Amino acid sequence: MATTDRQTATLALAHALSAAERGLPVFPLSATKLPALRSPHRDERAPVHCRGACGLPGHGVHDATTDPAAVRALFAAAPRATGYGIACGRPPHRLIGIDLDIDTDHGNDSVAALQHLALQHLFTIPATVTVLTPSGGRHLWLTGPSGASVSNSAGRLAPGIDVRGAGGYLVGPGSVTTHGRYRLAPGTAHLIPAPCPRGLLRLLTPRQHPAHPAGRTPPARQGQGLVQFVREAHEGQRNTRLFWAACRAYEHGFGDDLAEALTDAAMRTGLTEQEARAAIASAARLTTPRRTP
Ligand SMILES: [Zn+2]
Repeated sequence: MATTDRQTATLALAHALSAAERGLPVFPLSATKLPALRSPHRDERAPVHCRGACGLPGHGVHDATTDPAAVRALFAAAPRATGYGIACGRPPHRLIGIDLDIDTDHGNDSVAALQHLALQHLFTIPATVTVLTPSGGRHLWLTGPSGASVSNSAGRLAPGIDVRGAGGYLVGPGSVTTHGRYRLAPGTAHLIPAPCPRGLLRLLTPRQHPAHPAGRTPPARQGQGLVQFVREAHEGQRNTRLFWAACRAYEHGFGDDLAEALTDAAMRTGLTEQEARAAIASAARLTTPRRTP
């Protein structure tokens, strides 16, 4: 192994140990951001549901630990590790990762989308640990209360926003991947992960809330938020915003009622009526509950 590889592996271990010291469960990652240790069950034919009960390492996020000796053992078994993953959803921090993708080519402005959600649902995004990804994205680290289970999702909150919760992991700062290094955003290294704002937590744990409890925004007003979200789209985000808004409307059961208003909003941003109707129709198709025959 080349010296640089060995240095990278040693640095990865050092960063992982420092995270573990702060109470964050860690495990080794390869340069592809996947678990560096191969599954001990890889040659078994039947589907394996083992999450580490067999006692061997190689169960991905389930290997994650805060015990320094166990961290060292995992890295010793994974000499090609170049980084480390941090398991989300586990005590004491119950980390929630808000993964903001920056995709300027497609006008996918996830930071603006998160700010929009914050305005709409009356929360502020706290100063918290922020990790810059090699592709220009950022991970906001938040903590969840005990009893709230946040699950992983991609693009459900808004286009370009992924959420890492229970069973998910974040690439830790200091990790090196084929695309470059993950690092702490300047000025956030001294922070501790801030508690997830209540309004955001509510969006992340929708199943805990009944369909229409008293005090919740009635569908008609929710629909207005979606229409506004579409109307404020810049060129390049018009289609993704429209599609996303239509999906949410259909999921909440008022897609057909909102279709005209969404079409109108999309046309004001410059989409043709045909384009708008096509996006809404595909949202309707994708979100219509599948019935088992
Ligand atoms: Zn196992």
